[in-house]
Amino acid sequence: MAKLNYVAELDLEGCTGCNWCDIACPSGAITMSERKAYIDDERCIGCGYCVDRCPEDVMWMTRREKPLELPVGLAIDEETAAKAAALAEKAGVSLNSPLCPCATLFTLPVAAAVVKGAQTLEDVAAMTGIRGGCKIYCVAPTLRLLKAAGRDLSPPKGFRWYDLTLSMVDLEGSEIDGEEGSWLKEDLDYFQLRKETSAERSQS
Ligand code: SF4
Ligand code: SF4
Repeated sequence: MAKLNYVAELDLEGCTGCNWCDIACPSGAITMSERKAYIDDERCIGCGYCVDRCPEDVMWMTRREKPLELPVGLAIDEETAAKAAALAEKAGVSLNSPLCPCATLFTLPVAAAVVKGAQTLEDVAAMTGIRGGCKIYCVAPTLRLLKAAGRDLSPPKGFRWYDLTLSMVDLEGSEIDGEEGSWLKEDLDYFQLRKETSAERSQS
């Protein structure tokens, strides 16, 4: 996704400040002030979640006068791409896998957003357009990328994320010896082979 045609709007007079739109927004585009909601057009990825959530029915989607170009589009310069590839490798996320099917994005632009300074899931969403659909599939690999870049992360506003589940890339050393009959060691060898193959493919 590189350009966005739609943006959320609201009728401030009818807003009761219930905060549901803010909680629902995946890109941190809504802020609350004096029990009113305000939308940052530059961060809105046009998903419509807020419109669906507003109990007062005072939000709607409108066509932008001019499409918004996302900060991390499909054209990524060589230096950023190289750093993004190294970050994906460190995070154990395959560069050539679809990371956000809803936004039709592979790993590279999402990793590039982290390289370019995204600090949170919401920042990555605002920069790339991820999290605008199911809000599930893209979260774990994006958290891996952010954590591999050293970002200090915690779920926003006390709510729960779909966080990381333990996987083979998290296990090392004695942890992988496992118990007799667990096949953990054998699986890890296979997984490492897949990681190496994936890294080779991303360099070719
Ligand atoms: S990103 Fe989605 S939830 Fe957030 S303001 Fe825009 S349309 Fe609403
Ligand atoms: S969900 Fe609707 S009523 Fe509630 S804060 Fe947002 S705009 Fe206002």
